[in-house]
Amino acid sequence: MKVFFQEIQVSTRNRTELVDITGSIEGIMLKSEVKNGLCIIHSVHSTTAIILNEHEAGLAKDIVKKIEQDFPKGAGWLHDRVDDNADAHLASSFIGPTRVFPVQNGRLVRGTWQNIFLLELDGPRTRRITVEVMGE
Ligand code: ZN
Repeated sequence: MKVFFQEIQVSTRNRTELVDITGSIEGIMLKSEVKNGLCIIHSVHSTTAIILNEHEAGLAKDIVKKIEQDFPKGAGWLHDRVDDNADAHLASSFIGPTRVFPVQNGRLVRGTWQNIFLLELDGPRTRRITVEVMGE
C-alpha cells in the first residue's frame, strides 16, 4: 500500500467564508499516483470545517447565512469569555473538519456539483489542510 501525505496552506479574507480548494486537492491526487483507495482531507483547526457542495456564489452566501443563523455570534456562549469566538468553535464541531473520499482510477469519486471547500469560521487567517492519499 502506498501512503502519500501533503499539507496545503490557504489564506482566508473574511471572518466566515468558503474557499474552493478542489484544484489543489486534485493536484495532490495526481502527484500521489494512488489509483484506488481513500483520500482524507483534514483541516487542523478548531474554527474551520471542510464541506462539499456546488460552487455557486448564491449558495455560498446561503451557507454562510445558515451558519450565522444556527450558530449566532455573542449569544451568551461561555467560551466567549476566553477569546470571543465560541460560534466558530460550535459550527466547526457540528460540521466537522474532516472528509473522506473514495479514490478510483486515480481520481476522487465526487459528483459534478461537489466541489471541496475550506469553510473559514473565524478568519481572516492562514489555515493548514492536510491531505493523505492511501491505496495502491
Ligand atoms: Zn476560541
